[in-house]
Amino acid sequence: MALADGKCTPRIIIVGAGLAGISTAIALKKQLGFENFTIYEKATEVGGTWRDNTYPGCGSDVPGHWYSLSTELNPEWSSYYVNQPEIRAYWEGLYHKYDLPTKTKLGHGVTSAEWDSDCQLYRVEVEEVATGKKIQTEAEIMFYAIGGFMSPMFPKDVGGVEKFRGVAWHSARWRHDVDLKGKRVGVIGNGCSAAQFVPEISADPSVEVINFCRTPQWYLPRGNFHYPKWVQWIFGHVPLAMRLYRNWIMARSDLSFLAFRKNNRILVALTRRLLSLYIKRTAPKDQAAALIPTYAPGCKRIIVDPGYLQALHRPNVAISWDAIKGIVEEGIELRSGKIVPLDIIIFGTGYSTEAVDLRLRGSKKTTAHEYFETQGGGTAYLGTCMPGFPNCFSLLGPNVATGHASVIFSEEAQIGLAIQLIKPILDGKAKSFEVTDEATNRYNTWLQNRLSLSVWTDCHSYYHVGNQKQTKIVATFPGPVALFWWFARRVRWDDFTGVGAEAWEKQRRWNTFGKRGILVGLLALAAGLGYLLNGQPLLELVRRVISSVVG
Ligand SMILES: Cc1cc2nc3c(=O)[nH]c(=O)nc-3n(C[C@H](O)[C@H](O)[C@H](O)COP(=O)(O)OP(=O)(O)OC[C@H]3O[C@@H](n4cnc5c(N)ncnc54)[C@H](O)[C@@H]3O)c2cc1C
Repeated sequence: MALADGKCTPRIIIVGAGLAGISTAIALKKQLGFENFTIYEKATEVGGTWRDNTYPGCGSDVPGHWYSLSTELNPEWSSYYVNQPEIRAYWEGLYHKYDLPTKTKLGHGVTSAEWDSDCQLYRVEVEEVATGKKIQTEAEIMFYAIGGFMSPMFPKDVGGVEKFRGVAWHSARWRHDVDLKGKRVGVIGNGCSAAQFVPEISADPSVEVINFCRTPQWYLPRGNFHYPKWVQWIFGHVPLAMRLYRNWIMARSDLSFLAFRKNNRILVALTRRLLSLYIKRTAPKDQAAALIPTYAPGCKRIIVDPGYLQALHRPNVAISWDAIKGIVEEGIELRSGKIVPLDIIIFGTGYSTEAVDLRLRGSKKTTAHEYFETQGGGTAYLGTCMPGFPNCFSLLGPNVATGHASVIFSEEAQIGLAIQLIKPILDGKAKSFEVTDEATNRYNTWLQNRLSLSVWTDCHSYYHVGNQKQTKIVATFPGPVALFWWFARRVRWDDFTGVGAEAWEKQRRWNTFGKRGILVGLLALAAGLGYLLNGQPLLELVRRVISSVVG
C-alpha cells in the first residue's frame, strides 16, 4: 500500500488476539482508519484468557459493564459479574463486527523480532504452529498483546505428577471429557480460580473434594445479580444511562485502591476487620481461624467469593493445610507421611506472569529480557514503552495490572498513548519514536517509591519477580487506574526521541507555542479589561495564571 507521496504505508504487527490485540485492531481501524496491520495469534482461536479458561464457574471479578471496551458498551450483560462464555462471546462478537478475521493469522506465533536501525523496522520471525515452518516478515510498528496470565503454573516443589495413576490437569486446561461423578478430587491451591470451581464441582454430592491449601486468602462477597429485561432496555435505549452506570461502578471500585496503601492505617485495619468478619460469618466455625490471613488485605488479589466459603460447609468438601511432599501413584503424599488417595488432581495454582513470549531485540542490540535483568525485573515507561525498543508497545506490560480494577481500562489507556505516538509515523512525518532512559527511570523511581508504601510488600505473590516478597514488584500499578489513565492520556513528547521527525517536531513546538501564545494573549486582554474596569483582584489572578502558564 502506498501513500500519496509514493512512500509505503508503515506496517503494524499485533502479537496476540486476546482482548488487548482485538482492542488495538479496533482502535487502529476506528480512530485512525488504518488497515495495514496483521494480527498473529499462536492459538487456533481468539479470546486469550477467556478462550483458555473454561473451568466450571470461570468468570471475571470485575463487573461486566466495566470489564468491557469503553467504546463498545454492551447493554445485554446478563448479570453484574459475568461468566466466561458471555465474556468470550462479547470479544468474538467484536472480532467479527470489525472484520478482523481478514487481518488475523491464527495458529501463527511470533517467535522473535529484531529492530533494524538502518531500515527503521522490525525483522520478525513467525512460526506456523502446526508445521513448525518459519516465516520471515517485517513491520515498522509492533504491539505485543501477549497477556500476563497465559502460562499455567505448577508448583516447583510438588513433583511426581507423572507417577499418578489417575488423571491430572491445570484449571486453565480443563478436561471436560473427564466425568467427576463419584470421584475423589484433590484440588491444589486456593486462589481465584479454585475459589470459582470448587463450589461448582462440589455441588454434586457424589464428588468428594479435598482442597490442599498453603496460604489463606481474603474474600469479598460476590453479591451477583441478574439485570431484568427492562434495565437492559434502559441501558440500550436511554442516552447516557449505561455510560453513567459504568462510570459509577468505575469510580466506586477505583476508590477501593485507598485500602492498598499501607499508610492509610485506619482504612487498612478497618478492611482487615470487615473481611475477617465475612470469613467468620460465612465459613464453618471450626475452620475460620485457619482461613484468616495474617498479611494485609489486597497483598494477594482479594478473591471475590462466588460461594467458596459456603461450600466448605458441604460434607463432601474438606480443606487440608498440611504441606504436600509430592504426588505418588495413589494420590498426594503429605509431609507428615500420610497418603491421600485420589482419582483426579486439579492444579488451581495460577499462572506464571513472566513475559516468556517477549522475544525482542532492540536498537541497542540487547533483548527485552536482558534489559529487564539490568533493572531487577520487568520495567517500562507507563508499562508500555521501553528504552532501546522504538515503535514497540507492550500491552499489559510491567506494572499495568491492578488488584481492584479492570485490566481492559488500563489497556485502553495504553493503546490511546500508543495511537498518539504512531500517528506521525503513519502520516509519514516520522520514522520512529523511542522513550528515553531518563524518562523511564524517572517514572520507575516514582513507581517503586509508591509501591514500597503499598500492602503488596507484605507477602509473597505473583505481583513480585519469582513470587518472592523481597523482590521487585513488577505486576501492579501503585494507584487508582484513573491516575494511570491521567498519565497516559497525552504523550509527553520530551520523554521520547524521534528519528526522521525533525520537521514534524519543529511544527509541533510551534503549534504548542502558538496555543500558549493565544492563551496568554486572551488572559492579557482580560487583564487589560479588568484594569480598565478597576478590577485589581482580577488583575492579580490573571497575572498569576500567566506566570504559571509561561513559567
Ligand atoms: C481466570 C482469569 C480471570 C481473570 N479475571 C479478570 C478480571 O476479573 N478482571 C481483570 O481485569 N482481569 C482479569 N484477568 C486477567 C486477564 O488475563 C486480563 O483481564 C485480559 O485477559 C488480558 O487480555 P490480553 O489480551 O492482554 O491477554 P490475553 O487474554 O492473555 O491474550 C493474549 C493472547 O496472546 C496470544 N499470544 C501470546 N504469545 C504469543 C505469540 N508469541 N505469538 C502469537 N500470539 C501470542 C495468546 O495465545 C493469547 O491469545 C483474569 C485472568 C484469568 C486467567
